[in-house]
Amino acid sequence: MTEVIQSSAQAIKLEEQYGAHNYHPLPVVLSKGEGVYLWDVEGKRYYDFLSAYSAVNQGHCHPRIIRALTEQAKELTLTSRAFYNDKLGLAEKYVCETFGYQKALFMNSGAEANETAIKLARKWGYVKKNIPDNQAVIVAVTKNFHGRTTTIISASTDPSSRKGFGPFMPGFEIVPYDDVAALEKALANPHVCGLWIEPIQGEAGVYVPQAGYLKQAEKLCRQHNVLLLMDEIQTGIARTGKMLASDHEDVRADILILGKALSGGVLPISVALADDEVMLVIKPGEHGSTFGGNPLAAAVVMEALHVVKDERLADNAERLGRIFRERMNAFIPKTKWIKLVRGKGLLNAIVINDTPDSETAWNLCLTFAQHGLLAKPTHGNIIRLAPPLVINEEQLHECCDIIERSVREL
Ligand code: PLP
Repeated sequence: MTEVIQSSAQAIKLEEQYGAHNYHPLPVVLSKGEGVYLWDVEGKRYYDFLSAYSAVNQGHCHPRIIRALTEQAKELTLTSRAFYNDKLGLAEKYVCETFGYQKALFMNSGAEANETAIKLARKWGYVKKNIPDNQAVIVAVTKNFHGRTTTIISASTDPSSRKGFGPFMPGFEIVPYDDVAALEKALANPHVCGLWIEPIQGEAGVYVPQAGYLKQAEKLCRQHNVLLLMDEIQTGIARTGKMLASDHEDVRADILILGKALSGGVLPISVALADDEVMLVIKPGEHGSTFGGNPLAAAVVMEALHVVKDERLADNAERLGRIFRERMNAFIPKTKWIKLVRGKGLLNAIVINDTPDSETAWNLCLTFAQHGLLAKPTHGNIIRLAPPLVINEEQLHECCDIIERSVREL
């Protein structure tokens, strides 16, 4: 008989003692989720304003996604790609049609889908762009966040991601984010095979580039025969008010990278999407994953995307995002603690008016939690606010009340 957790204190103690200390969680122990709500082990209810870093856009334990998961789990979960299965092709077709690509390659974590994109871009660079062997360059930008593998952190500019984990993978050039002139210069190098960006930098603190940046980036990629690798793992699947954040500028990536809400938060599922010209450079045996494209994931992906479309979550994110920023902007002159609010759709952040190394954002999140709302600082004094996209207007206003009340209590 397995042990049962009786209290938050007990759960925290166990994690402290037996778990690696690679996260610094808020002292809240959750045991149940439904829609926009989470409950802790003592039964206190919270609004979730993180959505597992935007993996739970469809809301916690969405009944349709859970049904797809459990029905498929009773039939077949994993065969590996050594054989075909009766769900993968359907899921590939559905994601390709949904996002407008010819081919899909499923993986599990977001980091793996980014690794897939890197391999695709490099191989394409050698095979199609005739870059000399082992000299391909991928241009990335400052403050990026694409995951935690040793290759991915080789392109990071965040000391906490990198320090102590070298040596690093060569083949990346880093340019300032949101700087068209820097891109112009970097992409002119004939060894560049890809430009790798997030349309909005979520993890860094919800940095939205100036209007036109992504379009210019796309144009420069075309001009220099460079692939545009768009990491929409956090911004995609309706989070910013459109199915993809790139859609705001009508930009089409050559390799689109998705994860997180692709499963509605029930399984780790990610995908790299591209057209034949790019995807078919990878041949059998050159890339893969035991769990990637398993039938359980395939069934979940289809239902998770159906839910996003059927419930018009992009429209809801667009509308409620505007209301949220309006309310916060009206509140800012009434407090000394909030410098600004920024974001798109329901991916927003408030920047706390204090030094980046102060405890203010952390303390504010503790007060949010006391009042029934869960959020977490990202990079010092920035608090990302990203509820499940199934939130309604009344709930959103209630959450704004909690945020304002907590700031007043600072
Ligand atoms: N890319 C972006 C933009 C992300 O926000 C994240 C996670 O926060 C990742 C990649 C990494 O995804 P995963 O943690 O599933 O590997």
